[in-house]
Formats: sequence, C-alpha cells, structure tokens
Amino acid sequence: MHELAIVQRVVDEVSARLGARRVVRVRLRVGALVAVVPDAMRFCFDVATQSTSLEGAALEIEPVAAKARCEECDDVFAMSDGLPLCACGSARVAILAGQELVIQDVEVA
Ligand SMILES: [Zn+2]
Repeated sequence: MHELAIVQRVVDEVSARLGARRVVRVRLRVGALVAVVPDAMRFCFDVATQSTSLEGAALEIEPVAAKARCEECDDVFAMSDGLPLCACGSARVAILAGQELVIQDVEVA
C-alpha cells in the first residue's frame, strides 16, 4: 500500500533523528498529486508507530493544492483534478506545487 510505504519512511526518519525521544505529534505537508487518502494514512501511521517512540502520536496532514505553469502561455493554474493541461490546450506544463511530502514539524513530549 502506497500510504504504508510513505508513513514507514516518515516514522524511520523521525526516529532516526530524534532517537528515543517521545513524539506526541507529527505534522506533514502533503501535495495533492501524492494522492494519499488521509484516513488510510492515519491507519497506517497507527500501525507503523506501534512499539516505537512515536506510538500514540497524532498525525496531522496539511494538504497542499496542485499548481502548474504553462510553458506555452506562461499561465499559472490550479491542477484541481490532477490533470496537467492548460486552458490554452498545452500539456507542456511545469508543476509548481502538489508533489511535496514534507515533515513540517514534530512535537516531542
Ligand atoms: Zn497555456
């Protein structure tokens, strides 16, 4: 499962950095194009954190909307449906936001 792999990486990174410090909250910024299901993320987080220093921590997911710039007409548009297609008809677009998966901050006890 996509979500489990992502969550496992987050848990590994946090525990590698913070060692045995007890984590009470993890906040992630997740782009719309990463296409995660928040409920599935939380479920996987609860599973992946069992018997770790993150057990019982809250997972907060801050969504980031997808945005792209057209390389033909230079228009910046929201990729609300995840489709990289400009209103001018061009599919030559640069994605500006929506692909990030970032640990925003971690709260320790
Ligand atoms: Zn365009």
